[in-house]
Amino acid sequence: MSAQLPEFRLGAVLATSFTGTLSERRGEAVERIPTPSRLIDWLAVYGLVVESCTDVQLDRARELREAIHAAATAAATQDPLPASAVQIINDRSAQGHATAILTPGGERRWQLGSTSGLEDALGVIAADAISIISGERDGRLALCASPTCRAAFFDTSRSRTRRWCEMNTCGNRQKKARFRASHRNSPEQQSDT
Ligand SMILES: [Zn+2]
Repeated sequence: MSAQLPEFRLGAVLATSFTGTLSERRGEAVERIPTPSRLIDWLAVYGLVVESCTDVQLDRARELREAIHAAATAAATQDPLPASAVQIINDRSAQGHATAILTPGGERRWQLGSTSGLEDALGVIAADAISIISGERDGRLALCASPTCRAAFFDTSRSRTRRWCEMNTCGNRQKKARFRASHRNSPEQQSDT
């Protein structure tokens, strides 16, 4: 059953990877956390292990996702942050009580409450969003160059010139489209890789 659900697109930055669970926002949008169990699966990938999620909690998670998307987009375009989005991010951050644990191996692990696990996980995501939107972290918020995507992503490349949210999806699609356009009138068309 889960095989029929959309695959995740996993990024290195928690908050913008979370906003990427709704992809192709300007095209035919794909909801990648359509059910509570898929949200649980997604969180587990990032070490946020929760045991249960209700439909109401899924709605709350998506509300946070859209708030982060709106605030990150405003930050990327240097527009004022939408007040309602800021409020939602702050509320989720305040309600989460996750504890960062340093493992003997030197890695960070999140310890979430057994009953408030979902709220705690959303708090971690909200705090991550605050760290990138506020400019606390080394990097730059930018919008994907793909016209059907326009996802906000966090560019940590040295030159800060990354153009796509993901090279494997939006980047390749744009490159192929450009290749086809430039070879449309060419008699000896070659592979468009
Ligand atoms: Zn993109």
